[in-house]
Amino acid sequence: MAGNYISKTAFLKFEQCRKAFFFYKNHYYLRDKPSVDKQLTFKRGHDIGALAQQLFPGGINVVETDSNKGRAIEYTKELIEKRTPVIYEATLVYSGVMVMVDILVLTDEGYFAYEVKSSVKISEIYIKDACLQYYVVKNTLPDLKDFFIVTINDAYVFDGILDIKNLFKRRSIIKDALRNYGYIQTRLTEANEVIEQNVIPNVDIGKHCFSPYECDFFGTCWKGVSSEESVFTLGKVNKDHVFNWYNSGIKNISDIPVTNDLSKSLKIQIESTKSKQAYFDKPGIKKILSKIKKPVAAMDMEIWGQPVPEIIGTKPFQKVPFLYTLVSEEGEHAFFFDHEPDDRRSFAESLIEQTKNFESLLVYDKSLENMVIKELAELYSDLHADLKTVASKMIDISDIIHEQLFFHYQFKGNYSLKAVSLAILNDDPFKDEQITSGLEAMNAFVTFRLLDNIIEKQQMKDDLIDYCLADSRATFLITEKFKELTN
Ligand code: SF4
Repeated sequence: MAGNYISKTAFLKFEQCRKAFFFYKNHYYLRDKPSVDKQLTFKRGHDIGALAQQLFPGGINVVETDSNKGRAIEYTKELIEKRTPVIYEATLVYSGVMVMVDILVLTDEGYFAYEVKSSVKISEIYIKDACLQYYVVKNTLPDLKDFFIVTINDAYVFDGILDIKNLFKRRSIIKDALRNYGYIQTRLTEANEVIEQNVIPNVDIGKHCFSPYECDFFGTCWKGVSSEESVFTLGKVNKDHVFNWYNSGIKNISDIPVTNDLSKSLKIQIESTKSKQAYFDKPGIKKILSKIKKPVAAMDMEIWGQPVPEIIGTKPFQKVPFLYTLVSEEGEHAFFFDHEPDDRRSFAESLIEQTKNFESLLVYDKSLENMVIKELAELYSDLHADLKTVASKMIDISDIIHEQLFFHYQFKGNYSLKAVSLAILNDDPFKDEQITSGLEAMNAFVTFRLLDNIIEKQQMKDDLIDYCLADSRATFLITEKFKELTN
């Protein structure tokens, strides 16, 4: 798409790292394969962009008009010459830079441009992105009057009929664009110099590889760096320390000198890696496990949080629970709610009923479950006391890991349930699952609701239940393992 132009994506890569920019322009094939979560986030952005077009209906979409495929720049020019009132994905070029403006609107006063983002907040990178677009649009259409970033309005409440105007909010970035005009110009000159020199810029790995986004060329630059015992696999440590070690020649954890100023957490990680032995604080783990009262079950929940709410009374990104599972010695059970219509009350009542005979509920990181229960309790005041009882039964097994009462040298800085299960149980709880992350589960539920085919619908529901059960099962099993270790 970018051809010989500097696209918006290429410019943002340049802002992060010259080398990433050079790779993007000249060695695009080196890019890492995007993760499923990244692809889903991208798809969400695309869907929201399409929905926001309804703010200015009746426009012409430059890239989706079949007869004009591959000639977006010329076609945009023609539409502008014809004084087309609304253009979607208007593709403009100035001085070797190409941008695609989500919505370009012509009024009696002049042009107004809109960049749509599928989030509620405006980040620094969004502003930079919009400033670059302003620079190109202003130079091609001097009549540009204002430039807006359009985001999701988190105060919007769905009342049964989608109100596009209220779902979105907009903020002018014209002041930022004018202030940054010279900066953009300078940076573009520098980016062009990198292209002209045609040599891979000499940039070493650093904190910039992670910010503002994890770089797409991670696999290329970090190849050979992240070995099994690399200092980069340390958890709970400031990245500055890690890069200081790395740059001074300390590449492996075992090479770090164990001095008094090291934190207890680091000492544990270094010792465990050196000795290839798991560390555990028996009394500390016992203290957490002593809170468990029988009968006990492990629990997990899945939630649905869409930018466009579909349940009356909910807001954008509001977390709506749709599934929970319980795993105990007696068996495995799943409770699924399709929200056709709003099932939140049934979810709350079922949760109270199904957990009433358990004295303890084991969860791995209870923040989500706590938030769900709190919101349900606020919504249904008559269930408040019972829901509070459910919350009080929860015991967060991840505390053992996060408080570093247990450490395994195979964690490699990853404390997710999957990583912990792999190290402790020697088994990946999600290996047979079609769904492998919370974001995938959320997306699968959206697909489930859209499906008409009963067989496909059932399959999707089964996949979701299997994923949620795998989580509860793993929590149950690692707790058993901790009991075994401390006995
Ligand atoms: S991985 Fe790091 S050094 Fe390599 S291109 Fe990306 S940001 Fe630059």
